[in-house]
Amino acid sequence: MNMMKLRYELEKNNKMIGGHVSIAENISKAPERANNFQFDTFQIFVKSNMQWNYKKISDDNIKKFKENIKKYNIKKTVAHATYLINFGTDNKLLLDKSIEDLKYEIEACNELGINYLVVHPGSNKDRTKSMKNIMEILNSFDTKNVELLVENSSGKGNTLPSTIEEMEYMIDLSDNNAGICLDTCHFFAYGYDIKNDYDNVIYNLKSDNLIKSIKVVHLNDSMFDLNSKKDRHENIGNGFIGLKGFSNIINDNNFNNIPLIMETPEGDKNYSENLNKIVNLMVNK
Ligand SMILES: [Zn+2]
Repeated sequence: MNMMKLRYELEKNNKMIGGHVSIAENISKAPERANNFQFDTFQIFVKSNMQWNYKKISDDNIKKFKENIKKYNIKKTVAHATYLINFGTDNKLLLDKSIEDLKYEIEACNELGINYLVVHPGSNKDRTKSMKNIMEILNSFDTKNVELLVENSSGKGNTLPSTIEEMEYMIDLSDNNAGICLDTCHFFAYGYDIKNDYDNVIYNLKSDNLIKSIKVVHLNDSMFDLNSKKDRHENIGNGFIGLKGFSNIINDNNFNNIPLIMETPEGDKNYSENLNKIVNLMVNK
């Protein structure tokens, strides 16, 4: 599909679609990379996702990043916090490192003007107590202009939150406007059948108004089936959610005008094919 047509279809359907893009060489290149895939939104890491260490982003690069956001008409930006964070841990050292890390990531997001910061908040066997602890910690951050989003997990290990009820529980405890990043792969792998039982699942998301707290969707297919509890992303339509599941999502007005972000395998290589598949599923043409 040519670029004009693609943008037109996305706008007509009020859908904002992007993917996770690299910050290699320089973070200020991310908006251009996103634009090359016809994205009007994107996600990045503001530091290494597998290390505690970081190098502060220079004022010059912050300036260039912001200029490029304007230049390439990027509507919303998302950052993903490091995978090492665990606010549910009983290990004091790991907890302190996690707090220090997120403090920096919040600061970097504010400097860059990033809208949302997605966090895998942590894991613990004692789920209820741990969710309370996690939210107490998240509430202690001064987030300024960035919104913290808690991402749902596939239920692997004791990662939190997995169920709609757990997501609601956590959001209800937030006093600094935390929201949810809903990963379709994790949601399906946990056991929510967005392929064959979509209306019912959405009804459950809506019943306690949780749907209003979903500010970002991670648009990933799943390499493993419903209830597998496995977190392995697949390209759009090639996994167990399949084109049928993505057709449900992309034609759902509940997900209008929020970043729908792909984190699909070999991102750059497959983004344009994935994006075309998604746009072709839109019924409002
Ligand atoms: Zn994530």
